[in-house]
Amino acid sequence: MRHTTNVDLSDQNTLALPSVARHQFEILNDEDLFEALACCRQLGLTWQVMGGGSNVLLPSVIENGLFRIQRTAIEVIPLNTKCVEVIIGAGVNWSEFVQWSVSHGYGGVQNLASIPGTVGAAPVQNIGAYGVELQDVFVRARVFDGLEGCFKALAREDCEFGYRDSIFKRYPGRYIIFDVTLQLTTEDHLFVTSYGDIEARIATQGVSLQTIYQSVAEIRTQKLPDPQQLPNAGSFFKNPVITRDAFLTLKQQYPEIVCYPVNSHNVKLAAGWLIEQSGWKGKRKGHVGMHDKQALVLVNFGGADRNEVLAFAQAVADSVYDKFSVVLEPEPVVIPAS
Ligand SMILES: Cc1cc2nc3c(=O)[nH]c(=O)nc-3n(C[C@H](O)[C@H](O)[C@H](O)COP(=O)(O)OP(=O)(O)OC[C@H]3O[C@@H](n4cnc5c(N)ncnc54)[C@H](O)[C@@H]3O)c2cc1C
Repeated sequence: MRHTTNVDLSDQNTLALPSVARHQFEILNDEDLFEALACCRQLGLTWQVMGGGSNVLLPSVIENGLFRIQRTAIEVIPLNTKCVEVIIGAGVNWSEFVQWSVSHGYGGVQNLASIPGTVGAAPVQNIGAYGVELQDVFVRARVFDGLEGCFKALAREDCEFGYRDSIFKRYPGRYIIFDVTLQLTTEDHLFVTSYGDIEARIATQGVSLQTIYQSVAEIRTQKLPDPQQLPNAGSFFKNPVITRDAFLTLKQQYPEIVCYPVNSHNVKLAAGWLIEQSGWKGKRKGHVGMHDKQALVLVNFGGADRNEVLAFAQAVADSVYDKFSVVLEPEPVVIPAS
């Protein structure tokens, strides 16, 4: 276990918000965790976890113990001729894991290529892209339950996954994810190609794990601003889910409104469309703005802190509400200072 103090996190969160962790604990295994917990108790601190910092809004100072889980082992367990289980340490970089799995011929996560962050954070908001969500391949996670003070395995049904949601997101500070187990295919792969421009791209090259992986990676590079150049946290707002009845009322007034079906009762609206129609695409105030090509991506042009980001996001959400009576919820997690 490595305990460091006054760690500058400004280059460890993709929004580049200025932030200092008073106490950071790098944790490799169970023993490290118990040592870090004992140290926090001694110092009178609570704790919280951070992965790669690509979906958080950090305060200027974090007084709590900040746990960084650094397990990087990957273990493959063959189940039968068609699939394997893969146990992945929480500290593995998600994007590198997807690349690894495609290069080994394991199918299931190719549509989730190039999502920043760690494997440990992937179940937190049930990461999703191009028609696939983590829950589609998730088997279980090995977690430390801070409430019960013990390690346990949580199966898919225990995690209550939803759209950008899970028990990990709903009960922040309760669970620390150590390993994630996914079931991946070795043959008879299920290819989801109907989202975005994937279909057009694979038309010439044929469908395979590699071509889907490559297409998704290329589309993302073209469409999303690189946080290294323009700090951002990906989609800043969730796509709001509303009832079909509410949608039909809105559609009468706005025939062009964009939506995706959820189930027989609800639909998901495209938050980017709502933001664009409310006049915020490419609009900047101070150090913060909505991207000029991706209305859903809030960017820090340099020098913003969390308060400025939150005030700007509130102004965007307020004007969407005034126009459409639809509530926008931020996707990144607000990390408390203490
Ligand atoms: C350019 C860009 C594109 C993106 N595209 C997508 C996308 O297509 N789809 C999508 O779903 N998301 C997307 N995201 C959001 C982000 O990549 C994911 O949410 C990712 O899973 C966050 O990983 P992280 O390690 O950076 O987590 P962090 O940002 O560090 O943490 C996020 C949350 O997870 C918790 N957490 C982290 N590690 C653990 C752990 N081991 N145990 C328990 N809790 C933990 C933290 O406490 C926090 O609440 C994008 C972000 C960016 C910057």
